Amino acid sequence: MTERLCLVHYHEIGLKGKNRSTFENQLVTNLHRALRGMGVASISRISGHIAVETEDRRATEELAAAIRRVPGVARVSLAYKCGLDEAEYCAAAVRALGEAGEFETFKAHARRSSTTYERHSLEMNQIVGSALCEAFPQKKVDVHYPDVTVVVHVVQGSTFVYAASAPGVGGLPVGTAGKVVTLLSSGFDSPVATWMVGRRGAICVPVHFSGRPMTADTSEWLCQDVVEALAPSGIVGRLYVVPFGERQREISLAVPQGLRIIMYRRVMLQVSERIAQLEGAKALVTGESLGQVASQTLENIAAVNEAVEMPVLRPLIGSDKQEIIARAHEIGTYDISCQTAPDCCTLFMPRRPETHARMCEVLEAWESFDHEAMVADLVESAEWRDFSQCPSYHAPKGRLREHHAELSAWMGGER
Ligand code: ATP
Ligand code: MG
Repeated sequence: MTERLCLVHYHEIGLKGKNRSTFENQLVTNLHRALRGMGVASISRISGHIAVETEDRRATEELAAAIRRVPGVARVSLAYKCGLDEAEYCAAAVRALGEAGEFETFKAHARRSSTTYERHSLEMNQIVGSALCEAFPQKKVDVHYPDVTVVVHVVQGSTFVYAASAPGVGGLPVGTAGKVVTLLSSGFDSPVATWMVGRRGAICVPVHFSGRPMTADTSEWLCQDVVEALAPSGIVGRLYVVPFGERQREISLAVPQGLRIIMYRRVMLQVSERIAQLEGAKALVTGESLGQVASQTLENIAAVNEAVEMPVLRPLIGSDKQEIIARAHEIGTYDISCQTAPDCCTLFMPRRPETHARMCEVLEAWESFDHEAMVADLVESAEWRDFSQCPSYHAPKGRLREHHAELSAWMGGER
């Protein structure tokens, strides 16, 4: 029986000139990790595509679906792999068209790459086209706008034949855009924000601030569930959890009520920035969206942002909640985010939070408690769990505490 495999198409990677092979190799590595346990025999680059072959030579729709979730994948086709025998590839073309679902019009499209095969593509189009016309006499050929195109691609000594291909998540292979630290809650927004920068090729290291010991650790488990849900895309290497409850109590006692949230957020960003430095990450990511809640006005974003030097990326800044929720469905985090759990955001909340913070008042409140010692302490108390889904993730060498001591000394000199 003719072999069935998955043919992976990517376009953005194709545009990267000299870096192209780096991008392709990274995608191959990431696919190996994402498809563990799915009976894959080989993943190889063939003429602008990646071929995923299974041990039983019968790739399934399930395998194609797993491939589609990997960043960098534009489309996936379940293809037949034949030799150069005309009768064989024509039969595969008939089969592929028969499996393409509803259609009225079709065309054959032959391509040749690095092959010495004697037939030219025009000739192949005619041969395959007439086999298809014979098999589907009630359907019409339309060379301009066909419902289905049957591709017959000759590469070296093989022919790949497919009719349908389904879109992948797009983006770039994880590991080609550096590392970021993402501020992760179990709400709807930050899992989506994390996924979005991961899809653009960044290795993500989420940091979650829990209300422990003032609240239960439910939110920490939900964040782990979020990371597990994101596993098929292979974007997360490690999750940090920082117990923040006690410190929030201290802040709430020290600063004016309306500014509490801004102070919590400034501490959270500084702790995340330190972790990012330890991790060698180059930016922070939050799930903020303009005006969504009190803390997300322009004034408050500026008041929080002022606490750090590292760029803060906000991939959802212009998104509506409905769009974010639709994406949460797609990436599999929706059900987790529907579960409510108290975390640091529900603890010691003011009755009336400031919505248009003035910077001078923010800075005054900031100086009213020992934020430096607090940030240092919180970084030291960070706990973490590693996930094996992201092959490009490398943990910081040595123990976090030692690095932290070095970093504090260095930052003390810098700031
Ligand atoms: P989300 O749906 O991501 O929880 P939100 O709509 O609840 O966001 P906020 O509570 O204002 O909005 O949080 C804004 C951003 O701050 C979040 O998207 C996230 O990046 C970060 N953040 C909020 N709470 C936490 C937390 N407990 N741990 C880590 N980051 C957090
Ligand atoms: Mg939230």
